[in-house]
Amino acid sequence: MGDVDQETELQGFSTRAIHAGQDPEPTTGAVVTPISLSTTFAQDGVGNHKGFEYSRSGNPTRTAMETQIASLEQARHGLAFASGLAAEDNILRLLTVQDPSKGKRILLGNDAYGGTFRLIAKVWSPMGFPWSAVDLTDLDALRANWPDDTGMIWLETPTNPLLTCFDIEAIASIAHERGAIVVVDNTFATPYLQQPITLGADVVVHSATKYLGGHSDVVGGFVATSNDELAEKLTFTQNAAGAVPAPFDCYLVLRGVKTLAVRMDRHCENARAIVDLLVHHDAVDRVLYPQLPDHPGHEAAAKQMKDFGGMVSFTLKAGKDAALRVADATSVFTLAESLGAVESLIEHPGAMTHMSAAGSPLEVPDNLIRLSVGIEDAADLVDDLATALDTI
Ligand SMILES: *Cc1c(COP(=O)(O)O)cnc(C)c1O
Repeated sequence: MGDVDQETELQGFSTRAIHAGQDPEPTTGAVVTPISLSTTFAQDGVGNHKGFEYSRSGNPTRTAMETQIASLEQARHGLAFASGLAAEDNILRLLTVQDPSKGKRILLGNDAYGGTFRLIAKVWSPMGFPWSAVDLTDLDALRANWPDDTGMIWLETPTNPLLTCFDIEAIASIAHERGAIVVVDNTFATPYLQQPITLGADVVVHSATKYLGGHSDVVGGFVATSNDELAEKLTFTQNAAGAVPAPFDCYLVLRGVKTLAVRMDRHCENARAIVDLLVHHDAVDRVLYPQLPDHPGHEAAAKQMKDFGGMVSFTLKAGKDAALRVADATSVFTLAESLGAVESLIEHPGAMTHMSAAGSPLEVPDNLIRLSVGIEDAADLVDDLATALDTI
């Protein structure tokens, strides 16, 4: 686990991204955090060590990255995992190690990453942890229909792929009055745009594979919390179940995060140029971007986010076949799953990332296209997409 001290909390975002957990290495003075490959660490006497014993339980490169990102989330504790889903699985294990009088039900916002839905509905639910999909835009309904056996509420904001935004503070207060743990998947916003812990979330989770890594070259997951008791339980299962990342992967995420702020500024700026093209294009039915005043959750986004992010989704008037053709027709935007890296990506969620949600309450429209707008030159991105839209 990486722990954040009070002093670093006072520094600005990019200063923390570049320095938190990353003091020069004391024996050599190396400015860049070394990739510590050693699986085991010498002890001066039995049980007398320098903070590390065995690399599943703790590794210096991992601790640096855990401290760095926890500090950006304004959380006290950070834990790294082998993937976003491994991080999610570790959080769900809180339901097994917490007080048995507490509920076991998982409430999931009705738009979420397909893999999160699959993990909850197909892996955890059959093990005796029931789940329900809930509409988190309707807070009165959430209050009125709250199942008594709820142990955890899980939300993404903005969601994948519809980019709906939810009021974290309001949902956290409803959930806390009813004794549930609040988990926010902050993958799309990143800590640069939104810090859920400061809004009342108990646990924040990331697919570090996306914006944190930022270069499509590492799969990773991350969990942050400021609740000492939850941190202790999460650390227990991180070690006991063992889904930890390799030191090299931690290094790549650590390196990626150093430039998070400058990348996010450019992602947001380029996304706005793309949104401007789409809202004026005849072939486009709806543009989904949290900055648009008619977007579901625009108010929540404007209140809790610093800017609106690099993800843009849209539907086409001409339907599914046209959407598949556009996804095929771009050249600067690469047709691929995943998101959040320097290069722009285009995909058809219904046939790609969200296929596992088909037939469920989380099914996505088949005329939907999702863009991860990268940090190339905006003019090239706009030209490329405009050309592809002209093919329909
Ligand atoms: C990709 C993603 C995940 C899963 O992360 P992996 O690193 O692929 O395991 C979880 N949540 C969201 C929002 C994602 O986009």
